[in-house]
Amino acid sequence: MVMSKKLLLHPLPPLPHPLLQHRSSGPPKSKFHQGPRNPKVDGVNTLLYEDSTRNASVSALYTALAIERDDPSEKILDVARNIELGVFKQEYSAVNDAYRNKLRTLTMNLRNKKNPDLRDRLLTGQIAPSKFITMNPNEMAPESLKQEIEKLNKQNLFDAQGATEKRAVTDRFTCGKCKHKKVSYYQMQTRSADEPLTTFCTCENCGNRWKFS
Ligand SMILES: [Zn+2]
Repeated sequence: MVMSKKLLLHPLPPLPHPLLQHRSSGPPKSKFHQGPRNPKVDGVNTLLYEDSTRNASVSALYTALAIERDDPSEKILDVARNIELGVFKQEYSAVNDAYRNKLRTLTMNLRNKKNPDLRDRLLTGQIAPSKFITMNPNEMAPESLKQEIEKLNKQNLFDAQGATEKRAVTDRFTCGKCKHKKVSYYQMQTRSADEPLTTFCTCENCGNRWKFS
């Protein structure tokens, strides 16, 4: 048996399985095979179909799913197969551009080092492969990124409301530059609660801005 360099880097020996035939001639070379586990290293046969693109898709999905995972090979292969099959059926059993693009996107998201949750949810059955292939990038994003996006959205909404709803036009103030009295302003608590509010003024005539408290 020829030992590959990748095998030496792998902490676990390949899992033997009666259904998973070890092949001495390698599967089609894929640029995705960079991780410590891949079908070749694990002794998994991904020559499942007559179409080499389909086989390469399953192989790439397997490699992506296996990143930092120690699940049994047959589990990873099962999820990879079902993802590929789902996309294939979605494209009415055609290997076309839509099929390729879809699988590229799914595989890229699975390979995201910052998103171990996605691999975990698929391999523990929290997300079914049929559900996974319908998810948009936002839904696939790591939980931490989702919370960040939500926080930003809320902040933007607050800022937008602060800029529009709180602003009022008055003739109580006079612009120091052009002496007009059409001045819009809003007030904000900039320091501690027991200190007076700061008033931010904008001259609606010349655009001069000033503040006082
Ligand atoms: Zn002015």
